[in-house]
Amino acid sequence: MSKIADTLSKLNIELEPYEARLVAISKTKPSSDIKEAYEAGQRDFGENKAQEMTQKYEELPSDIRWHMVGHMQRNKVKYIAPYVYLIHSVDSEKLLRTIDKEAVKSDRIINCLLQVHIAEESTKFGFDEAELNDLLENDFLKEVPNVRVVGLMGMATNTDNEAQVIREFQGLKLLYDEIKEKYKADNFSLKYLSMGMSGDYPIALECGSNMVRIGSTIFGERNYG
Ligand SMILES: *Cc1c(COP(=O)(O)O)cnc(C)c1O
Repeated sequence: MSKIADTLSKLNIELEPYEARLVAISKTKPSSDIKEAYEAGQRDFGENKAQEMTQKYEELPSDIRWHMVGHMQRNKVKYIAPYVYLIHSVDSEKLLRTIDKEAVKSDRIINCLLQVHIAEESTKFGFDEAELNDLLENDFLKEVPNVRVVGLMGMATNTDNEAQVIREFQGLKLLYDEIKEKYKADNFSLKYLSMGMSGDYPIALECGSNMVRIGSTIFGERNYG
């Protein structure tokens, strides 16, 4: 068995009790690596750049589910709108409007996660809790009917302080449970809580994640050269 296939099989065993979906984050990695994972049965892949994802989409099998996990510039949405499976990194009303507009052009409904800022670092994008409540309270989602909000995404602080990571993930899980019940809209139906990466996914699963985004554990360290 190849190293990629072997790692995927171990991860799947680890994820099974949590019924969590594995999104293999393939950014910067060649299509040949993705092909190897695909042949081992993996179908969900994540990228953080629209052009790179689109190029891979064109080269690889059409039943791959492409997840966008990186911060998006609005002028790049048009490249991925025709095929993207789930956008994890939706962090503004403006971006929601653009996704809606491009979804209409592609005659699609685009599934999105709202990214919530849970980390201490100021560099991580996302809504804070108040902004999120504002957006949902004001019926903003009625204005973007071709967007469907199906969950939340968050990234914990990159730290060895496990207690802090637990606190951040638990906070997001609480928020998820709260807004899931509180708000009703035709295009709001929470199913996915996307949290956990190579360094912290075991903690994220314990805190209630049902979708993990794992890159370097599967494909090796990234070399940005
Ligand atoms: C790169 C990336 C990941 C995967 O990171 P690893 O540490 O390689 O597992 C997960 N989520 C997002 C948003 C990313 O940009």
